[in-house]
Amino acid sequence: MVRFEDVRKAFGTVEVLRGISLEVHRGDVTVLIGRSGSGKSTALRCINGLETINGGRLTVCGRKLHEPGVDLRALRQEVGIVFQSYNLFPHLTAAQNVMLAPRKVKRIGIREARELAREVLAQVGLADKAEAYPEQLSGGQQQRVAIARSLAMHPRLILFDEVTSALDPELTGEVLRVIERLAQGGMTMVLVTHEMGFARSVADQLVFMHQGTVWEAGSGDILRDPQTPELRQFVGNGL
Ligand code: ADP
Ligand code: MG
Repeated sequence: MVRFEDVRKAFGTVEVLRGISLEVHRGDVTVLIGRSGSGKSTALRCINGLETINGGRLTVCGRKLHEPGVDLRALRQEVGIVFQSYNLFPHLTAAQNVMLAPRKVKRIGIREARELAREVLAQVGLADKAEAYPEQLSGGQQQRVAIARSLAMHPRLILFDEVTSALDPELTGEVLRVIERLAQGGMTMVLVTHEMGFARSVADQLVFMHQGTVWEAGSGDILRDPQTPELRQFVGNGL
């Protein structure tokens, strides 16, 4: 579903991705870990075309992002992204926030949109909050609405960038459980997280990034038995 082949990305003269190769298979959960500044967010943002790559090849859902003329609109319908900041519209209810993109982008009717909102809000455990406004919801609930908003576009792949980092610890669990349930349901996803226990339990593939490269990758076991001093140190600090 995603293939990075020696992908490079620079901002000005600073090379942030220095030749990344990585594959994400359908139905798999890939977790990116690594220190702040190692290039995790940049790698995610390349996948849905928020950043353009400077070298190598990047194929997402069959689209060659390294070639000119990529249909970014179509790509972003297939690839959802959820950020640390949920950015819900404060003047719209949870259901209206969820319905917005399907109505505007896919031009579906109001009845169908309401039904869809009901469905995806139920998927994140918020069936009873459809009419609530963001300010009436906890941070964890707002983040779950943001996940529902992404699900409403029926993406083939969802990217999560530190979606629990802004939440109080007691609200983190409910969001992680939603992601875990999506994973069990077969959703393909790539996520960046600092929650190491969660990373180990949910990951089919764990990728340790260091200085803009894939330093170590494998199953969750790489955390138990790191092969490099850099990952050993990261695990030592992180657990
Ligand atoms: P991570 O998510 O692992 O913390 P990032 O991908 O956000 O790392 O950033 C990697 C490096 O790229 C950092 O040094 C960061 O300062 C730099 N960077 C990220 N985005 C930009 C940008 N838009 N312009 C310039 N530098 C950037
Ligand atoms: Mg980041």
